[in-house]
Amino acid sequence: MERETTKNGRGADAGRPAQKRNYQRELDKVIEGLEREGKKPRLLLHSCCAPCSSYVLEYLSRYFTITLFYFNPNIYPPQEYQERIGEQERLIREMECAGALGIPVEFQGGEYEPEEFYRAVRGHEGDREGGERCFICYELRLRRAARAAAEGKFDYFTTTLSISPLKNAGKLNEIGERLAAEYGVPYLMSDFKKKNGYKRSTELSARYGLYRQDYCGCVFSREARRGKDGDAGTEGGAAEACEKACEKVDREVAD
Ligand code: SF4
Repeated sequence: MERETTKNGRGADAGRPAQKRNYQRELDKVIEGLEREGKKPRLLLHSCCAPCSSYVLEYLSRYFTITLFYFNPNIYPPQEYQERIGEQERLIREMECAGALGIPVEFQGGEYEPEEFYRAVRGHEGDREGGERCFICYELRLRRAARAAAEGKFDYFTTTLSISPLKNAGKLNEIGERLAAEYGVPYLMSDFKKKNGYKRSTELSARYGLYRQDYCGCVFSREARRGKDGDAGTEGGAAEACEKACEKVDREVAD
């Protein structure tokens, strides 16, 4: 029997433990419902960087009117922040020109507030990537997105972050659901790496000649990357390590 999708965008999987939920299927159900009703709701899409947003924009702009929200106080150093936000704006312009978007996408840039990030992660500087520091980092960015979505009276909010094989989609969705209840804006559940989303993002990154960073964003991830010996410490090696991790996750999450 087909699972029901609730009005707030949460499927019948909503009460299940995170590791048992299929977020792509939950998103599929929301999209099916919107298509049935002929609706194209407003979505505030938090983006971490141009490469991660490329596939998500291509995919979701067919079903949602998107405002892309760029708030990433974790990024270090400031020049890196400027480079990433510049690439983000260029990508939107070029995808629009190429007719690769369902409908035009608006851009909303948040302030660069690195001190907020350092305050939030104090005491977790030495955590490994993927640990507690990252969960705090996810929430910092998602909370600001939820607030902007509530202020702008958006129908949904979500983030591109789940496209990365190195990010914890279960944790992102758990935080998103909690903030949705707090701010009164439904969170669009997602695991954008599914349906070959990550692979497609690498193709689009190549097509638009996007700058692809070799570290997640914060000074700690940068130091960890720079400090590694061997291939993973080089840009090409990092990309290859990421591809391998992605293939592994794709195999694990395949339906
Ligand atoms: S490694 Fe990435 S997700 Fe984790 S704290 Fe640093 S920037 Fe945030």
